[in-house]
Amino acid sequence: MTAALSTHGLVARYGDFQALYGVDIDVAEGEAVALIGANGAGKSTFLRSIMGLLPVTPDMVRLDGKPIGGTPTDRMVQNGVAIVPEGRRLFTGMSVDDNLRVAVDQADRFGRKGGWSLERLHRLFPILKDKARTQVQNLSGGQQQMVSIGRALLSQPRVLLCDEISLGLAPKVIREIYAALPEIRAQGTAIIMVEQDVGLAQSASDRLFCMLEGRVTLTGASATITREQIAAAYFGGS
Ligand code: ATP
Repeated sequence: MTAALSTHGLVARYGDFQALYGVDIDVAEGEAVALIGANGAGKSTFLRSIMGLLPVTPDMVRLDGKPIGGTPTDRMVQNGVAIVPEGRRLFTGMSVDDNLRVAVDQADRFGRKGGWSLERLHRLFPILKDKARTQVQNLSGGQQQMVSIGRALLSQPRVLLCDEISLGLAPKVIREIYAALPEIRAQGTAIIMVEQDVGLAQSASDRLFCMLEGRVTLTGASATITREQIAAAYFGGS
């Protein structure tokens, strides 16, 4: 089966500093894979490289087998790859609804069609309907994260990249957010999630990739990978 999205020997640099050394990760339609690893392992760099925010060659990133590495970010969204970025990056000074409508308008402009509408998003996260007129800076962190996820979904992605969506949130809110992932996957959307919480990453994904210093050190089915394997891959050694 062709992966929805795959990377092939992906290399990334910040000037002279090499952050990624040949990363091969793939995700299939409707599948969720999790990327774990210590601070600085290169997880965010990996997502940013896919989104065209760092220079990579076309062959390093493929969507349905087609080389698309280095495509500018807005074109990636147009192609069906969306990111829920670290820190959420919402438009402050604008309401929840207006933030979401930016994504709806953009999808219209890009001619992207899919199963997500404001109404459906309101069913997924009812609080976004209750707070529709509230400015996003007055929301809790969890509510802001729901807006950020909603904005990505309204771009009708085939592949959704999530950068530490649980960071700084209370356990109850994290559960609420992660409970939404099965419905997103049921739509056929593939998910690559970067997650610091290893237990959460393992329970919410089909496959797990562990990175250490810019390389993948462990790949396997989330259900069968052991804590010992993860510890070895996370910290190095064996
Ligand atoms: P974290 O959990 O801390 O976000 P991460 O696994 O996502 O960690 P990255 O943020 O991808 O790691 O960072 C990978 C490496 O690249 C680190 O050594 C980091 O210091 C470096 N790095 C990240 N961003 C930049 C940048 N803009 N300029 C230079 N080096 C950077």
